Amino acid sequence: MATGTPDLPSAPIDTSQAHPARVYDWLLGGKDNYPVDEAVGRNLPPEAHDGARQNRAFMHRAVAWLAAQGMDQFLDIGTGIPTEPNLHQVVQRVLPAARVVYTDNDPIVLRHAEALLVSHPEGATDYIQADVRRPEEIVEHARKVLDFSRPVALSLIALMHFITDEQGAYEIVRDLVSALPSGSHLVLSHASSDLYPELSDRVTDEYAKGGIRLAFRTRAEVARFFDGLDLVEPGLVTAVEWFRSAPAPQREDCGIYAGVARVP
Ligand code: SAH
Repeated sequence: MATGTPDLPSAPIDTSQAHPARVYDWLLGGKDNYPVDEAVGRNLPPEAHDGARQNRAFMHRAVAWLAAQGMDQFLDIGTGIPTEPNLHQVVQRVLPAARVVYTDNDPIVLRHAEALLVSHPEGATDYIQADVRRPEEIVEHARKVLDFSRPVALSLIALMHFITDEQGAYEIVRDLVSALPSGSHLVLSHASSDLYPELSDRVTDEYAKGGIRLAFRTRAEVARFFDGLDLVEPGLVTAVEWFRSAPAPQREDCGIYAGVARVP
């Protein structure tokens, strides 16, 4: 069942300025973007397309692995425009009764949320239109669908590099994680500023021209998001290196850090 259809009034789509979800959709070859988004995307180096694809593939592997461990509750923030397979499709293939709460603050994601709400009948999906900078609001809503006395997987995939230190990036993740019981997991991926510094500067500049502020981080800075948590193997690595069950394909350059950690 889909527990909640978005009953919020749908905010207008601003097509005068680029939006992260739409640029990402363009990078993935999607159709839910506008000329302003495409203009940012076209100026990005080809590696940005690889990064989007590698990031999405990491998400698929990480949540499939978590579902295989029995993790049946997911809170996904910064969901993005639906792109098949979406997170619930990946986890419900393993655990049909899995429950997933999706969150994004971009009105275009709300507009397409129906695709996220087509749950396996045994499970449930829900969508909240909310900003990660208001973690309490998200958790409060998520409690209506997820049982926070049991482990929850919190996924922040390619989200936190849109939040600067001044906006409280670390405090936000700490607040979200502190709502989770022992045995929960944090799944996080994040664009790096130190693996390919020139590329990273170029991407940051191009997004800035489109009015989007990015906060790419070094490995040590990304590792801080996992403070106090137990990183599972293979630790904090690039998105293409994060493998649990499948053998790693041939070496691929990748500028995205990714990790999964258990809440002790
Ligand atoms: N997690 C998806 C999409 C990543 S794109 C994936 O990895 O495939 C980043 C998403 O974060 C976009 O959909 C964007 O709208 C969302 N986002 C950016 N800032 C946000 C904020 N402050 N609160 C909630 N979502 C945000």
